[in-house]
Amino acid sequence: MATRSQGLRMVPGGGWEESRWPGLVLPGLCNLHSHAFQVLLTGRTQERGGGPGGAPDSFWTWRERMYALASSLGPDELEKVGAWLYARMLAHGFTHVVEFHYLHQGGAEMGAALLRAAKRVGMGITLLPVLYLHAGPGEELAPRQAPFALPGGVEGYLRVYEELASLVEPEADQVLGFAPHSLRAVAPEELEEALRALLPNKPPIHIHIAEQRREVEEIQAAYGAPPVRWLLENAPVDSSWCLVHATHLGAGERKDLAGSGATLGLCPSTEADLGDGVFPLPEFLEEGGSFGIGTDGQVGLCPAQELRLLEFEQRLRLEERNVLAGNRAPRTHVGRFLLEEALGGGRRAAGLGPPASERGSSDFILLDSGHPLLEGAGPDQVLDAWIFHLGAELVREVWKGDKCLVQEGRHALQEDLDREIREVLRP
Ligand SMILES: [Zn+2]
Repeated sequence: MATRSQGLRMVPGGGWEESRWPGLVLPGLCNLHSHAFQVLLTGRTQERGGGPGGAPDSFWTWRERMYALASSLGPDELEKVGAWLYARMLAHGFTHVVEFHYLHQGGAEMGAALLRAAKRVGMGITLLPVLYLHAGPGEELAPRQAPFALPGGVEGYLRVYEELASLVEPEADQVLGFAPHSLRAVAPEELEEALRALLPNKPPIHIHIAEQRREVEEIQAAYGAPPVRWLLENAPVDSSWCLVHATHLGAGERKDLAGSGATLGLCPSTEADLGDGVFPLPEFLEEGGSFGIGTDGQVGLCPAQELRLLEFEQRLRLEERNVLAGNRAPRTHVGRFLLEEALGGGRRAAGLGPPASERGSSDFILLDSGHPLLEGAGPDQVLDAWIFHLGAELVREVWKGDKCLVQEGRHALQEDLDREIREVLRP
C-alpha cells in the first residue's frame, strides 16, 4: 500500500511536488571538506597511546599517526583510495566532494590522481590544492611534513595550481579552488601573495581555522589576534570563502563571521573523533550565519549521520530538543532545516552557485519511503527519519544527471573498488 510520501520531490526552499519516482527525491549533497587519504586510518587510531610526558591522547597525537600514513602513499595508491572513498560517499548521498588536498608528494600528480578517481566513479569534485609552508608561525616544516610541501614557496605552489587547472574538466563537474592550509602553515605575506595571484579567477577559498585551542593561542601570540578575528580583518573574506571548523571563537568573532557571508564548514563526526570541541551553532544561526557539512577525516561518510550529530551535540550541550530550526516558522522540521542549510552552504562552498534548474540540482537521492516504520508518514517525517533514525538504510538510489550510480545502497563499481583498496592496505 502506498504511503503519503511516495512519489514526491523536495523543492529547495519549501514544500514538495509530485514526481514519477517511487519514493522521496532529494537533491544530492555536497561534502564540503574531505582529506581522502585519511580513510585509511579507519580503526587504526582508537587505542590509547598517550602523548609525550604522559599527556592524554589528542588531536596532536592523532596527527603523528596521520603523518606516518601520508609518507607511504603515491599517486597510484591515492587514486584507488579516492575512487573507493568517493563511491562510498555517493552511496550515502553525497554527489559532490570538496577535496582539501595537501598530500602533494612534491608535485601535481597526486591532485591529478584525485581528479581521475572522482571522474571514474561519477563524483563531482572541487579540488583545493593546499598551500602548506610552515609547521607553525615562523617555523620551518618538520621532516615528517615533507609530503605536504611543494618546492618553490608560493611561486612553486602557483605552478602546481596552473598544472591542475589544465586538468580540471568542468563538464565532469570539476572545479579548482584555493586553500591556504591554516594561519599556522601560511604566513600573512604568503597569503597575500597567493591571493593577489588567484583572486582574479574568483576561486572558492577554504582554510582550516580555530580547530584547537593550542592553535588559537599560537596565532594570538604571533599576530596579536585570535585566528578568526585576524582573518576577518586581514583577508577579503566574503561568500567565496569557507572557514572550516572555527570551533574556538569569541562572541564578537562569531557575529562578524556570520555577517561576512562566508560559509562555516562543520565536520561533526571528525570534530568529535578528534576532541575538537562544539561550535556554538544555534547562536551563529541566530546571527544570520550559514554552514555546510564535511566528512574531513572520513570517520563518517553519511550526510544524515553528520546532520544528526550536529543537532545531538547541541541537545546535549543545552539540555533541550529540536534546537536547530533557525528562525523559521513554528513546527519547522529539524531534518528539513538542516538539510536545506547543508545543501545551500555546500554548493556555495564548492563554488557551484545555485542549481541550474529551478527545481534543484540534477543530482538526486531516492529515499525509500516504503519502510515499514514509515507507513502513513508525511514527507518531512520521512526526512526526519532518514536523518535522526534510519540513515543509510533508506538510500535506495543515487543519480548524477541521467546516470544511476548507486542502486540499493551500492555503487556499480563497488566490487572492483573493494579489491583495489585491499591491495593498498595489504601489508
Ligand atoms: Zn581538515
